[in-house]
This record gives sequence, structure tokens and C-alpha cells, in this order.
Amino acid sequence: HSSKPSEHLNIVIVGHVDHGKSTLLGRLYADTGSLPDGKLEKVQAICRQQGKEFEYAFLFDAFLEEQEQGITIDTARTFFIWQGRQYIIIDAPGHKEFLKNMISGAARAEAALLLIDALEGVKEQSKKHGYLLSLLGVRQFAVVVNKMDLVGYRQDVFDGIEKEYREFLSQFGAVPERVIPVSAKMGDNIAKRGSVMAWYDGPTVLDALHLFKKETARSEQPLRFPIQDVYKFDARRIITGRIAAGRLKVGDHLVFSPSNKRANIRSVEAFNIEPPPTGAEAGQSVGITLDEQIFIERGEIATHQSQLPLVSTAFRANLFWLGRRPLEKGRKYLLRVATNEVDCEIAVIHKIIDTMDLAQQQGSTSVARNQVAELTVRTKAPVAFDLSSSFEATGRFVLVDEYDIAGGGIVTEVIHDDQEFL
Ligand code: GDP
Repeated sequence: HSSKPSEHLNIVIVGHVDHGKSTLLGRLYADTGSLPDGKLEKVQAICRQQGKEFEYAFLFDAFLEEQEQGITIDTARTFFIWQGRQYIIIDAPGHKEFLKNMISGAARAEAALLLIDALEGVKEQSKKHGYLLSLLGVRQFAVVVNKMDLVGYRQDVFDGIEKEYREFLSQFGAVPERVIPVSAKMGDNIAKRGSVMAWYDGPTVLDALHLFKKETARSEQPLRFPIQDVYKFDARRIITGRIAAGRLKVGDHLVFSPSNKRANIRSVEAFNIEPPPTGAEAGQSVGITLDEQIFIERGEIATHQSQLPLVSTAFRANLFWLGRRPLEKGRKYLLRVATNEVDCEIAVIHKIIDTMDLAQQQGSTSVARNQVAELTVRTKAPVAFDLSSSFEATGRFVLVDEYDIAGGGIVTEVIHDDQEFL
């Protein structure tokens, strides 16, 4: 870990089980020199002792175990550094909470690598993950066709997989940045090009990562400040939260939605910062005080007057359901958008989409586990939110079914209260 990275990129590696995610990661760590000294040799020695062939997947697993010790977060985060950028792997392969983390926004990926085994070809999971990445708004991704060594590094095999998968993705408008033939095991086209696939002249996996762009800094967007808590402190009320987008400063006129209460920022408070800051931006947790005593509660979103969020009791959404029991039209759920929680029900299930073949089913009144649906959600009280195409954090939601995060989705359309939608 020599030079200090100037930026970081959150990535996920997805694909069918056994297609080589851990092996690829082991390679990436080893080939970028991101492993602690002696780690590679140690794992190789253990393999020799146990009489088994060394695998890069073991290396990654051993590394992960070490990094995980003492870490209590539910997402296993590890990273490697390449050309001045830190790549944070926001979910370890095979991690059982993967889909839930993706959906609840706990793990926000800026880019993804989607692995396909060259010998096995495009599988159910390859399709499902491709669809979900797109649903969750991860637009930057490369497809990595792995285990090319098992198909004699043949171009026709690679071309066939590329064609089939691109056709599948194009049905919902997803376009991979690159499709790269590799052997994670042999190290071909991971860091080095080698000569075995001379017919391929595109980037290696590390080159492709380097070409991924950092998302526009969230601080440049309009302000979105979801209120987490309000504390009474002396005579003052301190309103706290984490700024999801944009920036705020002393003197700003704020609008709180959905209540539509308004006041100016008198002070910005941050712990252990002296002198107190006069402003704060996306990513920072802050407290503010206002120049007027207005009653604000957790769940409201503070913004500037010129760029208000949407406020309504209904919206249309794409939802991925993970619940143990099916989602049912008419049943009550708890909706969470940013810090807000409100009772809701599913007013309409427009259609259900099978993530494997994208077949659509209409007229259904329930959504089974692992299905994706287009639906209309109706809330008991007005909520503030955004379209997910404009704002990441306030444009997504989760549905809680009896204390369980059972589904998650993105807001695609607002339905105004005077609008007919049934
Ligand atoms: P994961 O379940 O996607 O994390 O897959 P692993 O990385 O654990 O790999 C599954 C199996 O495929 C292991 O036995 C690996 O050694 C093997 N494997 C992974 N990549 C390659 C490759 O490029 N070539 C060959 N021949 N085997 C590979």
C-alpha cells in the first residue's frame, strides 16, 4: 500500500456461484500488490502442507477472515489500490446478505464486475444479477468471461457468450462498458495481457476498472438532508442527520418536507470541530439549529426552496421482493424512505417480471420471493421522496413486513394526490 489513494470507488463482483468471484478477487489483490507481506507465501505453504493445489480463492478467503476480525459491520468490506485509486469491494462473494444490502442501499455500488464462466455460459444468476444491477441503478459494469483456459482460449466461445449476454441485457437497456475474456486462475487479462488471447485487444480487468468513472460528487447536487433525530439542548433544538446530497450553510433558508415548515439555519454543529463549521456537505453527519422554534420530527427531508422533493401519498415503483411470505396487494407494510417511516399498502401490482427470461405477468395480486414487480404504493400519510433517476438516497425505499426488510425498490414515478391511478 505505497502511495495514498486520492479517491475511492465502490465496486461489487457478482455472478453465479463457482464462476470464479473469489479467485478473481484473490488475483486482483495479489496482482496489485495489495496483500500484506508474506501472505501469498503463507497460503501457498498451507496448501502444500495439506497436499492441495494452491488456489487464489483460498488466498482471498484467508485475507477476508483476517480483515473481518473485529469488524462488526454486516457488509464485508475490503479494498485494493491500483493507480492511485482505492477499490472498495462492498460485498464479498457469496455473502448471504448481498441482495439485501444492495437493495436497502447499505451497499451502494458505483460500478460492478459481472462474472460468467466460459465453460458453463450464461446462467440464471448471471441474468438475475444483470437485471438487478440495472434495477438498482448501477449503470457502470464490465462483463468478465472467466475460465477461458477451460475452453482453450477460443474466441468463438467468447463471442457466443458475449452475443447472448448482450442481447439479454439490451432488453432492459443495459450496456456493459466492456466484455473481457480472462482466466482468473492463470492471471490472463487480469493485470497482464499475455499472449494466449492475442485475438482480444480490449482492456484488462484492471484497465477496465481504471476506466470506470467516479460518480458525480454528491455534494454538487441539490440539498437533501433527511432528519435523523432532534435533540433538546439547553433552550435549543439541534436537528441532526447525514447529508445525502448537496451542501448547506449558516443563513440558508430550509424547507422541511412533507410538513412544509420553514426556517433559516442559525448554526451548524459538528462534534469535535473547532471553530464550529459554517457549512457542511454530502456524506457528513451534522446538527443544525434554526432561527425559529419550529417543530420538526425525524423523517422529514430538509432542502432548499428552489429544489423541493416530491410530496405525495402515492408513487409508482420497481420492487424486488425478498420476503419469506409473498407480497400481497392490500396488505399493510411499513415503508422506509431515507429516515422516514410510514404505513403503506400496495394499491396496484401492474406486472411481475421474471428476471431470468424477462417474461411479464399481469393481473397478479401477489409477488413471490425473488420476483421483481412494477407497482403502485399508497401511503397513509404524505411522504417526501425523489425519483431514483434524480436522487439515489431519497429515490429508493424498503418495505418492512413484520420487522423484516422484505423488499426494496426505486421510485419511478410520482402520483399526485388528485390523480387517478387505479
Ligand atoms: P465463486 O464461487 O464465484 O467465488 O468461485 P471461486 O472463485 O471459488 O471458483 C470456483 C472454482 O473455479 C474454484 O475451484 C476455482 O479454482 C475455479 N476457477 C476460478 N477461476 C478459474 C479459471 O480462470 N480457470 C479455471 N480453470 N478454474 C477457475
